Amino acid sequence: MDKRGLLSALSGAALDILLPPQCPSCNAVVESAGVLCGPCWQAVDFITPPLCSCCGLPFAFDPGLSDAVLCGACARRAPPYNRARAVMVYGDFSRKLVLAFKHGDRTDTAPGLGRWLARTGAGLIADADLIAPVPLHWSRLFARRYNQAALLAGVVGRIGGVRVVQDLLVRGKRTPPQGRLTRSARHRNVQGAFRVRPSRRGELDGRRVLLIDDVLTTGATVSACAKMLLRGGAKAVDVLTLARVVRTTEAGR
Ligand SMILES: [Zn+2]
Ligand SMILES: [Zn+2]
Repeated sequence: MDKRGLLSALSGAALDILLPPQCPSCNAVVESAGVLCGPCWQAVDFITPPLCSCCGLPFAFDPGLSDAVLCGACARRAPPYNRARAVMVYGDFSRKLVLAFKHGDRTDTAPGLGRWLARTGAGLIADADLIAPVPLHWSRLFARRYNQAALLAGVVGRIGGVRVVQDLLVRGKRTPPQGRLTRSARHRNVQGAFRVRPSRRGELDGRRVLLIDDVLTTGATVSACAKMLLRGGAKAVDVLTLARVVRTTEAGR
């Protein structure tokens, strides 16, 4: 290691000692890294059963004993993925948390958020042969310096002991942000945006893939990815995200 490398390694270590761990959401000082402070913990809207067995939408009312109940949308048209699960409802609190992680350089929160994912997705991880993140377009990756989904995928793979293939999918088309688009416009927007990296094709055959992303909104992005993975030979695709949009009309509350 040259002198400069040594200095930056030392200052990194020193910073770790000097800076106490902070709450991933509000930056309050907490006991250990990746742990939320008390008030923030109270604010998390964790998703719990009963859920749609396919897309993971939480139901306001328990539909009964059967564990294979579908929501209206999945019953009308089955998504290309098998199961999607999310840790929490996307709302004021989780939006702040995800944005800080995504754009605010709070990469230190990845291990904590990844542990949440691993707990929520334990069943999906147990069935997975491969884990892959939803990729960013290279220009966005360049501007942001890291792909938040890739960081999460790395943590989930380490915890679950499942191989992570960070470059399984490529984002070939730079798509406008999905933010204000309607459901059908979102599906059109991501159509043809993803493909399986040609050099990875051989690894997909007959495999179950677990796809990781930060937020599931309409499911357009993960559906586009799942379609390409299935076309590339994957046996099945599951999806695990930190947060999930739950529209009040969908959940019946
Ligand atoms: Zn906090
Ligand atoms: Zn559903």
